[in-house]
Amino acid sequence: MDQPKFVLSASEAESMAQSLGLPSVLHLLPTLVQPAQSLARPPISNYHVGAVGLGSDGRVFIGVNLEFPGLPLNQSVHAEQFLLTNLAVHGCPQLLSLAVSAAPCGHCRQFLQELRESSSLQILITSSEPLPEKTLPFKPLSEFLTNPFGPSDLLDKESPLLLELHNNGLSLIVSEHDISKKLGNLCNGDCKKSDLDGNFNVLNNGFGEELEKNEALLRKRALEAANNSHAPYSGCPSGVALMDSEGKVYKGSYVESAAYNPSLGPVQAALAVYIAGGGGGYERIVAAALVEKEGAKVSQEDAARLLLKRVSAKCQFKVFHCCSIENGY
Ligand SMILES: [Zn+2]
Repeated sequence: MDQPKFVLSASEAESMAQSLGLPSVLHLLPTLVQPAQSLARPPISNYHVGAVGLGSDGRVFIGVNLEFPGLPLNQSVHAEQFLLTNLAVHGCPQLLSLAVSAAPCGHCRQFLQELRESSSLQILITSSEPLPEKTLPFKPLSEFLTNPFGPSDLLDKESPLLLELHNNGLSLIVSEHDISKKLGNLCNGDCKKSDLDGNFNVLNNGFGEELEKNEALLRKRALEAANNSHAPYSGCPSGVALMDSEGKVYKGSYVESAAYNPSLGPVQAALAVYIAGGGGGYERIVAAALVEKEGAKVSQEDAARLLLKRVSAKCQFKVFHCCSIENGY
């Protein structure tokens, strides 16, 4: 069976628009909303939201809503948040327009403020059918949210916004305690500290070597996600990497909103990337790593553990701490 597509290349989008006899890729967006809705995972509300966005590089991206039974509703992912995560992980620098199945909620109107020149983002609501054939009634975000509060109220103009290049300058803190604890696990507690220089292969008979390799990969990917995290308000960036049962890795970056509550957690972001990457059922997620600053004022650890436990009870979860390279905190 074909995997659902969450990203169309510019040429795929153009030829699809042409084959449907549409005048432009912009006209393609509303035609993809309904198929996008079928990819949503809202087991609580059963209300399927699909958002289809056109990036500045000509690619078309899909976003859907996600809900997690057994957890508070504020753990949910809205289709517009999923969409922006999808653009971010694929390195698309700007969202120009989006078509969405229902009017964006207040939470999403606020979340979209994190984009550069957000007021001119063009939005089309497809539920207000029938849509005229020629001139589609796109409206700018500024009409959906007047008198907005956003990044310009709190940040310098130079501060990178969502989808812009972030490098938070983070590096991992690997303490001797962590290493000896790990070695203790691998060798059933028999090895001594002097074994730190020893050969891992001897200690773990090859099985631990695989674990060690997977853990190193997850740690690396989670650090990359933390370095791309948009957390200018708290200064507490974080990232999560998930691994599925086939060893494929998906990474998600924490995204803050100037209004705090609409912020998107790193596990939520990683789950969106997992679904967009064809990840299937959540129970296929077998391991996860979170990277965040030690003693962070805004810590994701407890919330991440809770969410992961709900979606995939058997998932192994590890937390790694990092610090900022420039100023050492
Ligand atoms: Zn919303």
